[in-house]
Amino acid sequence: MTLAPVQRVDADVAIVGSGFSGSLTALALLQRGMRVVLVERGRHPRFAIGESSTPLANLLIEELADRYDLPGIRAFSKWGTWQRTHPRVACGLKRGFTFYFHPQNQRFEDTADHARQLMVAASPHDDIADTHWYRPDFDHALAREAEAAGAVCFDMTRLEHLRHEGDLSILEGEREGRPVRIAARFVVDATGPRGFLHHALGLEEGPRRWLPGTQGLFTHFEGVKRWDSLNPTPVAPPYPPDDAALHQVFPGGWIWILRFNNGLTSAGAALTDPLAAAIGAPEGAAAWSRLLATLPSVADQFRDARATMPFVHSPRLAFRSARVAGPTWAMLPSAAGVIDPLLSTGFPLTLLGILRLVDLLEHTVPGPEREAALAGYERTTLAELDATEQLVGALYRTMDDPALFKRLSLMYFAAASFSETVRRLGRPHLAPGFLLREHPVFGPELAACASLGATAPQGQPRHELEARIDRVIEPFDTAGLLDRRRRDWYPVLANDLMASAAKLEATPAEIAGLLERAGFSMRE
Ligand SMILES: Cc1cc2nc3c(=O)[nH]c(=O)nc-3n(C[C@H](O)[C@H](O)[C@H](O)COP(=O)(O)OP(=O)(O)OC[C@H]3O[C@@H](n4cnc5c(N)ncnc54)[C@H](O)[C@@H]3O)c2cc1C
Repeated sequence: MTLAPVQRVDADVAIVGSGFSGSLTALALLQRGMRVVLVERGRHPRFAIGESSTPLANLLIEELADRYDLPGIRAFSKWGTWQRTHPRVACGLKRGFTFYFHPQNQRFEDTADHARQLMVAASPHDDIADTHWYRPDFDHALAREAEAAGAVCFDMTRLEHLRHEGDLSILEGEREGRPVRIAARFVVDATGPRGFLHHALGLEEGPRRWLPGTQGLFTHFEGVKRWDSLNPTPVAPPYPPDDAALHQVFPGGWIWILRFNNGLTSAGAALTDPLAAAIGAPEGAAAWSRLLATLPSVADQFRDARATMPFVHSPRLAFRSARVAGPTWAMLPSAAGVIDPLLSTGFPLTLLGILRLVDLLEHTVPGPEREAALAGYERTTLAELDATEQLVGALYRTMDDPALFKRLSLMYFAAASFSETVRRLGRPHLAPGFLLREHPVFGPELAACASLGATAPQGQPRHELEARIDRVIEPFDTAGLLDRRRRDWYPVLANDLMASAAKLEATPAEIAGLLERAGFSMRE
């Protein structure tokens, strides 16, 4: 960012934090004629964790771009348009979610019916695939767009005080030795977990209810070998397993491996506290080596790899602020809470929050109506974090039980693919709430099955629970997730969507139109 010419600014909205969420919020508000100041304590390009997008996240980017007339942003929603429009902004190809389940201290082996793996494709070919965002480039590009669109940008700024003068929020701090004073009618916190408003307002941390305590250990590498080159399969999988969010799951945690197109790979582990303690997670690289020593097939991938920056240890991954909004402020969902990288829920939750909050600021004026709307925003944000936490919590409890883990995770894939499809068909009301949380049947059943899954005794027959999960999924399954002949390899097939027309309350012609708009061919 260039040095802002003034150190005193009046704005309609002050956004604190210029990660992707702060900049996207700024761009949308600017398009609605609001004066925006964007305040960042660091300087782009900078490392940020949280890299893997999903079909729903990308659809929300499209919706945001269309609603606020941001064509340059829309190109970031698919691998193909990204490569053609922003070739200098690094990213990775994400064709789906790949899971391999490892018993500790044993090499990976699987059965013909893939008892120890799960692959769920998100796209039928590369051009319309999702991406991993290389955040140093991506966030920098968005911050530049926000500045070019008219946001007043302060980087390297340390905010020290937040106080109120009449109906204005006054943010004071310093930037490179010079005082800064920002007066704004509304403050948006986009600073991530345990961020600016959480401290400035002295807010309480909310409880963790379903997740065990987890820690993070991560960095970027070069030289990570592809899993498919080390473990070729006689039959081609639905997509190359490394062109995906690759999850190596084991009792007590999991490792993500996300490849970028600039030679770097993001990899890290989310570990329950006992496992983190056993490997000495705060010790960084040494702990990583100790973890890999228990996972011989994963270690093969990292045999010649080199970390390109020091390991980051996060002593507590999950976070929840007890409050999310007040009369003149709101946290984006990513500042309000973090559950876990598993299932890549951070981006869609945050993008849903941006769409809601910008709409709210556009259509309400300060006063009781806005306060009621903000109270609703807070309730929705916390409830969506709850639904996510409950499912991810159950997945943590079943990491040593691949069959149940996979069955539970299909609830996520069913809800996510159904939600994306009905939004694309212009029927978002059919999928109320993130993970269909507000659906009168799916919402409560997701919670109930997650709760039963989390407490299911290992090795005991659970036919009842598995049958119940299947019954819950069936009306929303538009991706062949209940077709056991697929042996937990799920491609994206146009025919599955066609066959699901009735579930989607759509005609075959509408489905054909959707497939064409989305870049499918009927052969896929
Ligand atoms: C280990 C891990 C892995 C994850 N992986 C995924 C994933 O694969 N997919 C997914 O969807 N989600 C993932 N998430 C969640 C994801 O990281 C967040 O949703 C995402 O980073 C939010 O982006 P953001 O722009 O809101 O905040 P951030 O990326 O956290 O950016 C916040 C910005 O605010 C600035 N800032 C902080 N404090 C201040 C301050 N006081 N004053 C001024 N500026 C400040 C920071 O410098 C930074 O630039 C992951 C989370 C973790 C912890």
